Amino acid sequence: MHDNVVIIGAGQAGLTAAMSLREKGWAGGIHLIGAEDRLPYQRPPLSKGYLSGTEAESDLALATDKTLADQNIDTHFGATATNIDREHQVVALCNGIQLPYRWLIFATGSQPRQLNVPGKELSGIHAVRTIHDADALRASFAEATGPTIFIGGGFLNLEVAVPAAEHGAVTVLEVAPQILGRVLSRPAANALAQYHASLGVEIRCGVTIHRILGDNGKVTGVEIDDGEVVPAQRVVLSVGAVARDELALAAGLETAGGVVVDEYLRTEDPAIFAIGDCAVFPNTHAGTQMRVESVQNATDHARHVAGLITKTVDEGYQALPWFWSVQGERRLQIAGLASPEDEAEVVDQDDTKGKLVVERYRTNRLVAVETINAPGPHMKARRTLSASASQQLAASL
Ligand code: FAD
Repeated sequence: MHDNVVIIGAGQAGLTAAMSLREKGWAGGIHLIGAEDRLPYQRPPLSKGYLSGTEAESDLALATDKTLADQNIDTHFGATATNIDREHQVVALCNGIQLPYRWLIFATGSQPRQLNVPGKELSGIHAVRTIHDADALRASFAEATGPTIFIGGGFLNLEVAVPAAEHGAVTVLEVAPQILGRVLSRPAANALAQYHASLGVEIRCGVTIHRILGDNGKVTGVEIDDGEVVPAQRVVLSVGAVARDELALAAGLETAGGVVVDEYLRTEDPAIFAIGDCAVFPNTHAGTQMRVESVQNATDHARHVAGLITKTVDEGYQALPWFWSVQGERRLQIAGLASPEDEAEVVDQDDTKGKLVVERYRTNRLVAVETINAPGPHMKARRTLSASASQQLAASL
């Protein structure tokens, strides 16, 4: 039996798993495979400081060549894993390399969801997932001022809308009646919408996209609803992400909008785990199987699986989810997980500081706390929610 751990995907989850395995004493081989031809890097700054120019590429790096070599981690960057032979426990790479494994970890992440409308192939339409994407958008801002249309009123677009407002008019087109409706209470979403309005960002909800218009192959506008055309120098498209689960599916593993795993983050094949954006796992805080896209989820999953492999951990995964988003001078933080039906109670508000604290309740039980410009209450909420989750678990045993 080989003593390799092979990790497919060298993003936040894959890199953390590799480093964590060594920290926890794994003495066998570690192979980290990454399709992107560069060192692992953080994605959050791509829509924040890196885009606006306050952070350099070197600030984004999660590891150096030296760290990886010192930790004896074999890297295969710029290489894609193309096949998994589960019977013989071997991963094949696009360059012909075959890597035998004792343990295999899927950390393949997610990718932007496509919008199937006429004109989607025009140039001047941007997504923000990779450094390459952020560079292309930066270049577009540098090249010409002019209106930017954001299709989708989610976190990512609302972050990018702030620096975009310095380069021309900004319109956010959202199909739902409210921005961030799936993930945020109405009071918190309204507070962010008001802040964006104060910057001159126009947010239009309940809008359907009919087609993207262009001239000479280059985007010129977006046609909505009843034929109205909103002019655009560029379009930024962010309508959610889909899990990269195609390799798991081809290997005969269960997928359902992501790689399906149990509470140990293990697939139906006991030698194979899935972590981070690509994993659909039983979330004890939500009481359902789900995928979570956040740095916390990617890194906590990674450490947990490293613990299971090194036998330094033996329980199921149950870390409290938390998330942040920076939109100009507004820092949103969410502790816990709420669903749209959960009640929202504003418990603190100071408009002069842009501060807001909203508690979310499900049948009188606190399930999440949303804060804007209130880091203290966020940290307190994380402690409170973690403690109450542990108590509930103990009571159920
Ligand atoms: P990824 O980072 O997607 O890494 C997966 C890697 O696997 C990719 O490099 C991919 O190329 C590679 N891969 C896929 N298939 C293969 C294959 N077959 N062979 C080899 N390699 C493969 N989260 C927050 O909590 N706060 C934020 O403010 C925030 N901001 C964000 C801003 C942006 C612009 C983006 C894109 C994301 C942001 N997120 C934020 C989300 C967070 O960055 C992700 O949840 C996290 O990076 C997921 O890490 P991952 O390792 O699971 O996936």
